[in-house]
Amino acid sequence: MKIGCPTEIKPQEFRVGMTPNAAREAVAHGHEVIIQAGAGQGAGFDDADYVAAGAVIIDTAAEIFAAADMIVKVKEPQAAERKMLREGQLLFTYLHLAPDPDQTRDLLASGCTAIAYETVTDDRGGLPLLAPMSEVAGRLAPQVGAWTLQKANGGRGVLMGGVPGVGPAKVLVIGGGVVGTHAARIAAGMGADVTVLDRSLTRLRYLDDVFSQQFNTGYSSTGLLAEHLADADMVIGAVLIPGAEAPKLVKRAQFADMKPGAVLVDVAIDQGGCFETSKATTHADPIYEVDGIMHYCVANMPGAVARTSTIALGNATMPFMLALADKGWKRACAEDPHLLNGLNVHAGQLTYYAVGKALGIDV
Ligand code: NAD
Repeated sequence: MKIGCPTEIKPQEFRVGMTPNAAREAVAHGHEVIIQAGAGQGAGFDDADYVAAGAVIIDTAAEIFAAADMIVKVKEPQAAERKMLREGQLLFTYLHLAPDPDQTRDLLASGCTAIAYETVTDDRGGLPLLAPMSEVAGRLAPQVGAWTLQKANGGRGVLMGGVPGVGPAKVLVIGGGVVGTHAARIAAGMGADVTVLDRSLTRLRYLDDVFSQQFNTGYSSTGLLAEHLADADMVIGAVLIPGAEAPKLVKRAQFADMKPGAVLVDVAIDQGGCFETSKATTHADPIYEVDGIMHYCVANMPGAVARTSTIALGNATMPFMLALADKGWKRACAEDPHLLNGLNVHAGQLTYYAVGKALGIDV
């Protein structure tokens, strides 16, 4: 199969769909890999790295889209890219179609077969191609929160780990899933005093079993949340109710009870955010203040560490990409129901129920 990987064109997207290592594996499996010139630059991979892996460098996206049997990307295809997709071509990337009728219409019109990273599943009910980005965002959250806590950035001027004779920062993590667990581990590793609140007792039992030496856990009731909020230097929002907008767990009125200069890091901003005052920000202008409380609400946090994110995503997508290339999408999906769950569009038909329901299109 001919596998093509174009340069990402969405603003501020520095990741790339294939790493040189993924290209090397595909070539070893007997496939041809074509990479757009400069595609890996933002993630720190040169064209020469891909050439050494056995890939061929092609100048333009148009040539990649025209020649490839399968396109491997990171972000959903932008309007200009969608015009280049064709009937029978396989697209393997993040799509997030439910809130995006324009993209859905164009994919259906193209006749391509599109497999979305975000709906591929695993045996434990998880989303293996979303998890790496949650791991990245979770581990980044205390790092950006610690920077925001510095006085010059508007924060309380508190050091995460304190020093001998001065206590550490108090960090509250709301939601103990993938993001929350990784955030708590890093915050605890920085020396902070960390508490994780969740609504799932199963999850709290797991966290207590594995991490009781590193952080505390609590059941996320309104009362306990309010108690911890008043004491927190940093609050990391990491809740998810699958398929729904994030619940607004902290109201503006509660800021009056908080320490001035405390920091809110709303990782759940991509689902609307879990603080009432959250609004999406960018890496160029990531923080703002409301009533003395600092907010960090960047919706694509993994983009800040494009190299780590690209390699983490590549590790997760590689086995699926190889299965699709080796067997063709029909047999690969027939043999793996988890990959089949990724199928969103085929030959002008929407094939994913939740997307159809959200957009009012028959599936
Ligand atoms: P997850 O499903 O692994 O974890 C979510 C947790 O929230 C679950 O354990 C659930 O029990 C808990 N929860 C639900 N309601 C709660 C409540 N009221 N109080 C306390 N806990 C509650 O999800 P995840 O992968 O950790 O993702 C968390 C959020 O981070 C999602 O909105 C995801 O889209 C977002 N995210 C954002 C970025 C970014 O760049 N901003 C990157 C990755 C993920």
